[in-house]
Amino acid sequence: MDLISRRGLLVASASALAGVAVTKRLNAQQLVWPSITEGFNRYNNNCICNTSAGQNCAHFMSDALIRAGYLQLLSGFTTWGCAAAWGSKRPVQAKEMCAWFKGRALVTLKGGAYFRPAPGTGIYVVYQQYTTSPTSQGHVCFWDSNNGTARGTLWLPWWAVQEFYKW
Ligand SMILES: [Zn+2]
Repeated sequence: MDLISRRGLLVASASALAGVAVTKRLNAQQLVWPSITEGFNRYNNNCICNTSAGQNCAHFMSDALIRAGYLQLLSGFTTWGCAAAWGSKRPVQAKEMCAWFKGRALVTLKGGAYFRPAPGTGIYVVYQQYTTSPTSQGHVCFWDSNNGTARGTLWLPWWAVQEFYKW
């Protein structure tokens, strides 16, 4: 376990044990939580459960983000199909990941098909959707604007909705 992950665990433990005073301190600490790059670097197109859930975009991406230290992703999400032990199951729904992106985002860039952020503006988490209908198929992955490369199960720039988030 690396330094970043240990920090995440310590924050989670403090949250479970204490009340308001620590909660205020947590909010300040969240500002130094791992970068998106930490997750991007850990993405390995797999999950610790070593099992395919069929549609794995959110499954494998959330696994990388959790291993980077984003332990908030360990509760409150749909995890059907992830075979990790209870307490370690990974989120598997793209739309739920997108909602989590929105909750953290300091930068949000949205466009239609083939939209992407300017080169050299860092690494983003991405939500792509097949059509503009809210019920349409969604997909999540990483986009590295510095190198013009994606990491994820798929990269779908021709889909109608392209949303890029970072913090
Ligand atoms: Zn899994």
